[in-house]
Amino acid sequence: MNNIINHDQIMSELNATINTSPNYILEILDQAKKMKGLTYHQVLSLLHTNDPGLLNVISQTASYIKDEIYGKRLVLFAPLYISNLCNNECLYCAFRNHNHKLSRRALDQHEIGNETKNLIGQGHKRILLVAGEAYGKQGLQYILDAINTIYSIRSNNHSIKRINVNIAPLETDEFRRLNESKIGTYQLFQETYHEATYKMLHTKGPKANFDYRLSTMDRAFRAGIKDVGIGLLFGLYDWKYEVLALLQHINHLEKEYGIGPHTISVPRLEPAYESRLSYHPPYPVADRDFKKIIAVLRLAVPYTGIILSTRENSSMRKEAFALGVSQISAGSKTNPGGYATNDVNLQMDEQFSLGDTRSLLEVTKDIVHHGYLPSFCTGCYRMGRVGADFMDLAKPGLIKQHCLPNAIFTFKEYLNDFADDELKINGNKLIQNILKKDIGMIQQADILQNIHQIDAGKRDVYY
Ligand code: SAM
Ligand code: SF4
Repeated sequence: MNNIINHDQIMSELNATINTSPNYILEILDQAKKMKGLTYHQVLSLLHTNDPGLLNVISQTASYIKDEIYGKRLVLFAPLYISNLCNNECLYCAFRNHNHKLSRRALDQHEIGNETKNLIGQGHKRILLVAGEAYGKQGLQYILDAINTIYSIRSNNHSIKRINVNIAPLETDEFRRLNESKIGTYQLFQETYHEATYKMLHTKGPKANFDYRLSTMDRAFRAGIKDVGIGLLFGLYDWKYEVLALLQHINHLEKEYGIGPHTISVPRLEPAYESRLSYHPPYPVADRDFKKIIAVLRLAVPYTGIILSTRENSSMRKEAFALGVSQISAGSKTNPGGYATNDVNLQMDEQFSLGDTRSLLEVTKDIVHHGYLPSFCTGCYRMGRVGADFMDLAKPGLIKQHCLPNAIFTFKEYLNDFADDELKINGNKLIQNILKKDIGMIQQADILQNIHQIDAGKRDVYY
């Protein structure tokens, strides 16, 4: 029994009569534009809307909010899988303990260093450290050592500046140790908020305990972690139930700790090696519904970043940018050691198959082609604008004064150091357009001065 998800309340909301009349939907969208969030009932009305014209207006409103808060920026990162050893039995995952066909591998610190060099060599500045739940005798120290290794690697004067972490739930004391290692966001997905389904799909190991997983972010906040990322795996249970439960989780965190999650991740179930369930999702989410979910989340929790991974293909990712996604992974590998080797046999160690296998350079070109500004910024985290301090700047719209210039500087550095000629031309044009259209005269002069310094060789410019 937990005090986070109220199953009965969700069921009664789902069973109530849902008003999807055009006037009511337009009223909700008007209110959403104030960027103060929505009630569960309003969210359900939007989720139940299927009229193409109204769906269009929902998408346009989500795009409006995305532009108001995030502008054209899209933050880029890559996952770094350090181990696929796992004691759990999540029926949808290739790393699950009973999958004896998977080749198992936990990278040593030297190998983690090699992966890091490869990611730095592509131009990445942010990574998401990912591992199965089995760290051997070293326990949490294995993860802490990995974080130290990643931050310590320098390659041609470049380095990883922010490490977000997606690892199994920890005890409060362990979270304190993790926090001391200077992580960015601690991420964990509930997979499904529907307890009975959760229990059917997680049959072994520590992850089988629904309440323990659900209360993870409470322990993280109590341990002093400032930014947490939540999410769920779409395809396991009814997505309308899941969206309401996700909002209940957010409300719980806001009420208890004065701050909600920094990010929401929206993975959809992908085919995973030797997982029959992953090929036949019990509750598949159609593309049209998936886009609606992203748009409605953008309206309901406007200041929380939405993360989309390389699970999705390039055309879905493009549509999702406009609807509210603010961070994406690029050039990803989901097998430990996957960056430093091109051995195709190692794909047997992958967690799931990728929908987008393009390199960071290709993804960046595509983003620019669609008028978005790739950002490698890690400024807020390094300046201590985290947790409630970040939200205090984000809500009155002040964070933009940092984010847009920082996105320009980090992209300019990427262009100078990693881009080919085609991207250099298009990327520099995009920066000039943004300077003309989106930046006031006073800040323009300052930004131009910094750009000149970057051209003259200065690096790691941010406010
Ligand atoms: N082992 C930790 C855990 O389960 O929380 C952290 C790493 S786990 C590899 C990261 C996430 O991968 C899981 O939370 C789950 O949502 C996602 N995942 C697992 N199998 C997947 C699949 N077949 N398709 C898409 N995502 C999947
Ligand atoms: Fe292990 Fe995480 Fe995969 Fe579950 S989702 S089997 S815990 S790696």
